[in-house]
Amino acid sequence: MNLPEQVLYMVSATAFVLGVRFMGSPRTARSGNRLLAVGMIIALGTTMMVVPRFGHWAAVLAVVAVGTAAGTWSAVRVRMTAMPQMVALFNGLGGGAAALVAAGGWPLASGAAGWLAILTMILGSLSFGGSVVAFLKLQEWIRGTAMGLALRVVGLLVLAAAVALGIFSGIGNTTALGVAVSLMVVTALSGALLTLPIGGADMPVVISLLNGLTGLSAAATGFVLGNQLLIIAGTLVGASGTILTQQMSRAMHRSLKTVIWGVRVQSRASHATEGSVQPITADDVAMLLRYAKKVVVVPGYGLAVARAQLEVKQVTDLLQGFGVEVLFGIHPVAGRMPGHMNVLLAEANVSYDQLWEMERINSRFRETDVVLVVGANDVTNPAARTQAGSPLYGMPVLNVDQAGAVVVLKRSMGKGFAGVDNPLYFDAKTRMLFGDAKHSLSQLVRELEGTA
Ligand code: NDP
Repeated sequence: MNLPEQVLYMVSATAFVLGVRFMGSPRTARSGNRLLAVGMIIALGTTMMVVPRFGHWAAVLAVVAVGTAAGTWSAVRVRMTAMPQMVALFNGLGGGAAALVAAGGWPLASGAAGWLAILTMILGSLSFGGSVVAFLKLQEWIRGTAMGLALRVVGLLVLAAAVALGIFSGIGNTTALGVAVSLMVVTALSGALLTLPIGGADMPVVISLLNGLTGLSAAATGFVLGNQLLIIAGTLVGASGTILTQQMSRAMHRSLKTVIWGVRVQSRASHATEGSVQPITADDVAMLLRYAKKVVVVPGYGLAVARAQLEVKQVTDLLQGFGVEVLFGIHPVAGRMPGHMNVLLAEANVSYDQLWEMERINSRFRETDVVLVVGANDVTNPAARTQAGSPLYGMPVLNVDQAGAVVVLKRSMGKGFAGVDNPLYFDAKTRMLFGDAKHSLSQLVRELEGTA
């Protein structure tokens, strides 16, 4: 590669590194995103420069056009609530693409590069199979609840078979297309089988893990092709995915082993979910909030579904106008992707200082008068503390049941992503404001304005 192309690749890599750095804070995330896009444009342009022949050049251009059209369409048309599954799908496509590129380069690679091609096909296909299942789960086209051990064992056996196939073809230097296809299909199947039984509560860890795998497979492809930029970009994704996996596991008190093997789910019903719930009307909630001193709002996936971030901001503004102290309690896995709630609330210009992470806010609930739970369920479930055997058991939750009163905004008694009952709703101090969160919050705005 010539010097100008090398320099351009370095500029692109620098944009990637700085872009990721800027993504670290909500304040700079937009600039980070733009910088990453610029880095990608430079990378694509430079790659066009190094493509040797016009025929190839046209093929690359056509592929870039298709990808750009699909990406732009998704960014514009896909609803905010469908972002997590879109990210899961894109992640899978990244892994699949890395595997295909490695399969193409495998016959030309020898020695270490040949082994790296095999590794890439395994990592990329594993990520592809797992991400497709994650997509289906997030899209709720298949069940999100945890499944038994049998499927996990079958998944591991299939993965072992794929690894064995990879090793034997590496030793025998059999780079036939049929072998590459079998290797990728069997590995993708193992990824799907391993992800299928993982329950809703553990999905955040799996998604970050798959993300890390895609990055590593892209980096390995970079070695196969001798492309430094791919090595740098893949390593960045691989490293951030791995760090995120660690952070998610820590936040949920789950080891990777527990996620893959699952926790034993007991069928024993909980006494706490027997009894009746106590509905409340919007005007009563308005009074409760209006005369509280401290209110904590706990947003969850339902806030994203209802697209009620602006209304929640209106309610908090009105309450602050009455002298009520209002904070937001943000659980690390609330919603359907890391940072989901921060993104939504930033869109509504909620001040960052009001957003308190779980560890910080949990000590405040005892002195909180009212907690307003807006479309959150699993992240508030006290069974995570008390019911050994619950799929949520051991996951730290927002201890909203320690507050003076709890008002839950949701449409029905429907379950959360983990598919388990929530004893919080049957607690004597909990009131249920049933309805779409956007509608309920608009009612609250009207009621609060009426009392001004
Ligand atoms: P949950 O999925 O547990 O609950 C969301 C609740 O919102 C539902 O019970 C639903 O009840 C309610 N809801 C849905 N639509 C509306 C609406 N329009 N108006 C009002 N309420 C609505 O969400 P949480 O945020 O509490 O928990 C996230 C879950 O997702 C966890 O289990 C987590 O592990 C998992 N997960 C998280 C990921 C991440 O990275 N953040 C990734 C993948 C999974 P109803 O139907 O009755 O309205």
